[in-house]
Amino acid sequence: MSDFIHKRITDSEALDMLQNMPTAELMARADEIRRARHGNKTYYVHSHNLNPTNLCVVECGLCSFWRPEGAEDAYITTLEDARENLEKAQNWDLTDLHIVGGMIPELDLEYYENLFKLSREMLPGVLLQGMTAVEIHWIAGNEGISIRETLERLKAAGFGSISGGGAEIFHPDIRKKIATTKILAQQWLDVHKVAHELDIPTNATMLFGHIEKDEHIIDHLSRLRELQDETGGFQAAIPLPFQTNGTALGLKYGPSGDRQVRVAAITRIYLDNFPHVRMLVNYMDRKLLGVLTHSGVDDIGGTSLNERIAKEGGAPQSQKFFTAAEMEEFLVNHGHTPILTNSIYAQLDGQPDINALPETPVVSSRWKPILDRAEAGERLSAEDAVILHDEAPFQELGRVADLRRKQDVPGDLATYVFDKNLNTTNVCVTDCKFCAFYTKPESERGYVRSPEQIVAATKKAAEAGATQILIQGGLHPELKLDYYEACLSGIRDNVDIWIHSLSPTEIEYIAQEEGITIRECLQRLKDAGLQSLPGGGAEILVDEIRRKISPKKTRSQAWLDLMETANEIGLKTTATMVYGFGETTAQRVEHLIKVRELQDRTGGFTAFIPWSFSPNMTDLDCPRLQNGVDYLRIVSIARLLLDNVKHLQAGWVTEGPDVSQLALQFGADDYGGVLMTEEVVSATGVDYGVSEDLVINLIREAGWTPAQRTTQYDLIKVYDEVETEVK
Ligand code: SF4
Repeated sequence: MSDFIHKRITDSEALDMLQNMPTAELMARADEIRRARHGNKTYYVHSHNLNPTNLCVVECGLCSFWRPEGAEDAYITTLEDARENLEKAQNWDLTDLHIVGGMIPELDLEYYENLFKLSREMLPGVLLQGMTAVEIHWIAGNEGISIRETLERLKAAGFGSISGGGAEIFHPDIRKKIATTKILAQQWLDVHKVAHELDIPTNATMLFGHIEKDEHIIDHLSRLRELQDETGGFQAAIPLPFQTNGTALGLKYGPSGDRQVRVAAITRIYLDNFPHVRMLVNYMDRKLLGVLTHSGVDDIGGTSLNERIAKEGGAPQSQKFFTAAEMEEFLVNHGHTPILTNSIYAQLDGQPDINALPETPVVSSRWKPILDRAEAGERLSAEDAVILHDEAPFQELGRVADLRRKQDVPGDLATYVFDKNLNTTNVCVTDCKFCAFYTKPESERGYVRSPEQIVAATKKAAEAGATQILIQGGLHPELKLDYYEACLSGIRDNVDIWIHSLSPTEIEYIAQEEGITIRECLQRLKDAGLQSLPGGGAEILVDEIRRKISPKKTRSQAWLDLMETANEIGLKTTATMVYGFGETTAQRVEHLIKVRELQDRTGGFTAFIPWSFSPNMTDLDCPRLQNGVDYLRIVSIARLLLDNVKHLQAGWVTEGPDVSQLALQFGADDYGGVLMTEEVVSATGVDYGVSEDLVINLIREAGWTPAQRTTQYDLIKVYDEVETEVK
């Protein structure tokens, strides 16, 4: 257990870490503190939200929830409305009722006393958490009484703890811009101090990812740490990612994945006197949340049923949990011991002992010398890679993969390509069990794009800025070589764009249907305009797995041989891997070793791209859904093992914009394609999307200089401070 675990860090040390420490290393430090405190226990609550009104006299610029008087969707919850609302919630086995909302004269102290009494009567045993220090300060002022008297009356009515809202950022330079009319930082802290003196536990938020600078984050945390030293009344620190929709701050993006991880980690490391760090699932993508639970976060908040504030701000609703069981499953999937509790961390029946000291896990150390060799630039064996994959902390793998990435792709650029994915047809005779995209020849859902349609769509994409077209599709018995030649030559002769298209599976099928060799087929496609091959159809290059997931599809060696032939006739290629079908670590490594061996011979692979399998709407169950941590582990292992493949692409299509941004800190040097459209993965219901502008913002927020590239990794445009057109 390293000694820094309990050593208090100074503000300047914290600022230095937040600004300069590599993300993987910061995650590792915070995770070690979290494990020393909680082991792998991770807490969650099953909560319902009741927002009494969205009218508010404070009208903060950062808030998208409040409505002006007379607005169509403005509302006030009467006690009768509240009774109806709570009646519905009575059978939900809630742990928490969260009451928070706007401030208007009509909703005075008596209203809230009655609301808490009603809630206590209708939801006995449920923690009544609510109201922010801002609301309490405002009501006390309206009543002309002290904060203490206000809190005493609320407590008597059943009020159990103060949620941490309204803290935003304490520093006056920022507070005056984002919450002009809100109470000052000291007034917020004073409300919490009085609450602590009255044994009312509270939480503390910090809204970040808007206009604050790193020093404002550290200033905010230092004021919380100071009060906690005095009272010890805070339960959890809750870094809240800013949601941009509908706010008056005119910001396009909230904090990216990398920023959220860095702020959560420094919160854990710096607030050495706070028991918990909580991040709320209803503010972010689940894959990112999973990674955060290995970056210092020990609490993922709750179901927050009927939560409106984050929703109004544009938080992804598709990621929310609706049942405690879903949250439990999510935490188990991330290797945690889920503990259902409430917002004051009470021991609930049937839950593991919440106060049990974390067991000291038996950790292998045989990975360490192997990782040291990788850090020294040595080539790893398959056995090495299996041990690293299964036994090394993923953050440590990331730290070294990031160093290797800086050696393999020197400089501060991270690239992306502006491309379009275009499918010829969704009709396919191969029936891969993992594929939700295809349909059978006789199905009405089937479509075929004509060569004219392919050329027209490609022209449109090029006009929109695309420099690469990626055409792929199902294996349609009626689409012969001449169809593909017509598509390719039509594009070559009419559109200024690079043709990076077709998969080995399609080419093998076309050649077979045509009765010609793979080499002849490749040569004719090349003559028609094909310039390089994407590495689709590789999934796992181990036939034992391929026989299970795609019995009719190209076998591993055939896939490799086809790529070798393509390289021999001058076509560069990329290599992919889809993992999560239940393959063993050794089989994943076998796939990577096969790619590395071919690369040693041909040097034809320009990049490697790993994706996780999405089981929805497919005929294949997956033993365990692959999460963001699994992904970052695979990315790191790929960088360390594929020492002869220069570029490693992140994969937002399956991992989402935030976790794929984190991949840029775990060995990836490229954000992949903007894609414009994508039909195959989105057929499984995983439906992320990015724009070129978002990609540039994500790369920049991860501390790299964004650069648009060609398919062959030549630079087109570097977005450093001043946009530089690379002639
Ligand atoms: S993955 Fe490709 S080859 Fe397999 S069924 Fe889907 S479209 Fe056909």
